[in-house]
Amino acid sequence: MAAHQKSETLSREAKLQALRERPEVPVLIIGGGINGIGVLRDLALQGLDALLVERGDFGSGASAASSHMLHGGLRYLENGEFRLVNEALHERDRMLLNAPHYAQPLRTTIPIFRWFSGLFNAPLKFLGALDSPGERGALVIKIGLTLYDFLARHGRTLPRHEFRLRAAALREYPRLNPALVCAASYYDAWMPSPERICLELALDAEASGSGARALNYMRALDAGADAVLLRDELSGETCRVTPQVVVNAAGPWIDQVQAHLGRAGQRFIGGTKGSHLMLDNPELLAALGDSEIFFENEDGRIVLLLPFFQRVMIGTTDIRLDEPDEAVITDAEIDYLIAMVGRVFPDIAVERSQIVFSFSGVRPLPYSDAGADGKPGQISRDHSIRSLPATAERRYPIHALIGGKWTTFRAFAEEATDLVLRDLGRQRRVDTKNSAIGGGRGYPTGAQERAQWLRERQHETDLPAERLATLFERYGTRAADFARFIAAGQDRPLAHAPSYSQREIECMLRYEMVARLDDLLLRRSLIAMLGGAKRALLTEMAALCAQTLGWTAARQAQEIEHAASILRDKHRVKL
Ligand SMILES: Cc1cc2nc3c(=O)[nH]c(=O)nc-3n(C[C@H](O)[C@H](O)[C@H](O)COP(=O)(O)OP(=O)(O)OC[C@H]3O[C@@H](n4cnc5c(N)ncnc54)[C@H](O)[C@@H]3O)c2cc1C
Repeated sequence: MAAHQKSETLSREAKLQALRERPEVPVLIIGGGINGIGVLRDLALQGLDALLVERGDFGSGASAASSHMLHGGLRYLENGEFRLVNEALHERDRMLLNAPHYAQPLRTTIPIFRWFSGLFNAPLKFLGALDSPGERGALVIKIGLTLYDFLARHGRTLPRHEFRLRAAALREYPRLNPALVCAASYYDAWMPSPERICLELALDAEASGSGARALNYMRALDAGADAVLLRDELSGETCRVTPQVVVNAAGPWIDQVQAHLGRAGQRFIGGTKGSHLMLDNPELLAALGDSEIFFENEDGRIVLLLPFFQRVMIGTTDIRLDEPDEAVITDAEIDYLIAMVGRVFPDIAVERSQIVFSFSGVRPLPYSDAGADGKPGQISRDHSIRSLPATAERRYPIHALIGGKWTTFRAFAEEATDLVLRDLGRQRRVDTKNSAIGGGRGYPTGAQERAQWLRERQHETDLPAERLATLFERYGTRAADFARFIAAGQDRPLAHAPSYSQREIECMLRYEMVARLDDLLLRRSLIAMLGGAKRALLTEMAALCAQTLGWTAARQAQEIEHAASILRDKHRVKL
């Protein structure tokens, strides 16, 4: 890894030892999803020594379950959430500039089956006279997209929307349902590897020189007047830290963490489950072209079909669920999502046997009665912070981060960081609006610059051009560190996932805070997501972990079983 990271990033054991020796931390962040990690990165850039603890791996909660969109939220306009849409559009555009390796423009096409339906929904909703969503017609979508373009006009990075009548739409997408009346296309952005963005932000925070640390597999258990009890989920060892300020960034688990902190009683979160499928269906992939297809079913629920490398992602559902640990796709959801494909591509067969992976998670939405009677799509997607002052029984203030889209994490983190800085009597010294993330730093934007960048890496490492291009696509400019590491030893492709190599995995093991086998399969790489996880690969990767992390044979066997059970039970992967 980059020289500065090598010197600043401590091993997990070294971080634990530092905590045993010095349990005082100015700021404790509980939860290593995108919002908690966003706060850690922001605090670190302000020079603050903060500790983030995550009970699983970084980005393994709601942040791993998103529809992978960086978007303004066209649909939220109808709920009158202009502030949120405006902020999200700005943040989307910032991500395209700050993390160009993981945030990519996405053309989105809406097939439209009616001209006028839903015309009165939006004004009636503002007046509180309509509470059931329905399918929108062309006119309402036109108004929405015009407003969307208007809100995105500052520093425009993406093209404006366009409408096509039926014949033109069918020329472009010949497999679309011919019952459509027209189609609209507009641009948003998507992120193939949200978990890697979480990781890179944590690495950036640790490399900032502020002393900020991120510990995965570390659970906040309980709290006393001055201290919070943490448990290492790998060893069972517990320790106490004494924070001056606590940030509760536990997403859908926020109320559970509040209860651990002795603040039970108030209900902040009322989440809804959303599930997605990954399909191996080349016919459907070809029918999508380069666009996401985005539409509403008859009851107004959103469905999206996203080309995802050689797979198609289908999402999503919106079902009230109070226990986030129980989120897993059900048979009924699978049937529903498959049926939805038939609505827009009626002559493309989709079979259950084509499902290579599925994922499910709970949206951390603010608690509201709106979703209790079956209309969860109407609960606000906006974020807020509930600040609880220090008391005689609890001598540190708590800031609880409620809601928050993936897209708006930077703005949300900025808001939380400003509250923490105020608590500690400190001033903001760095604005994160233009702070590049990980492999987005020094990113060569044009084709010529990219070719030049790759030539220089080839000159330096002698790796084949094609290999360097793959590394660049996977890691942005951090590919330079991967390439140097790979070139410094004997390398060979993995036998059971040949697009990855042994030294590439070893590089992750050394420098990317990998603690468990499933971290590699589910969050450092896209192997499982794209349907590449198999038992033989688990064994092969566990052996690499043994070499680099010193796992015993018993630990390897345990990790293989653990990863296999997650893949089977949470993602319906047949191993
Ligand atoms: C189905 C679905 C689709 C979505 N689609 C989009 C989209 O397309 N675009 C978009 O912008 N947003 C989307 N979102 C919203 C977005 O993913 C979430 O709002 C965001 O990821 C929330 O991040 P978070 O950090 O607040 O929560 P999380 O990512 O859940 O992080 C909280 C973390 O806290 C940890 N934790 C819990 N208890 C403890 C404890 N005791 N000690 C330590 N750690 C603990 C958990 O393990 C978890 O990792 C979607 C969400 C879902 C579920």
